[in-house]
Amino acid sequence: MIIFGTRTSSIALAVISFLCGFCKVQAAQRIFKRVTKFTLFFIPLFPVSTRYFVTCVNCGGTTEINKQQVDHYQEFIDNQRIERDLDERLEAN
Ligand SMILES: [Zn+2]
Repeated sequence: MIIFGTRTSSIALAVISFLCGFCKVQAAQRIFKRVTKFTLFFIPLFPVSTRYFVTCVNCGGTTEINKQQVDHYQEFIDNQRIERDLDERLEAN
């Protein structure tokens, strides 16, 4: 007998703060990836679907986003990090 199925896991990618479209509050938004993998004898083999979501920490409102939006958010976070590093360096001098 062959036992197969799927398993879904969520992976947190980043946290970003912006105005939530649901509760209209500036709150932390969790960006995460939900991967569904095909399993054989309960062993995950390969992904059958990958989806991206953003969830508001304040109200729990969840929106599906695409990979491009994820990249955009990640770029935004990286830029913020660079700016923060520069600020710290300027303050140190
Ligand atoms: Zn919200």
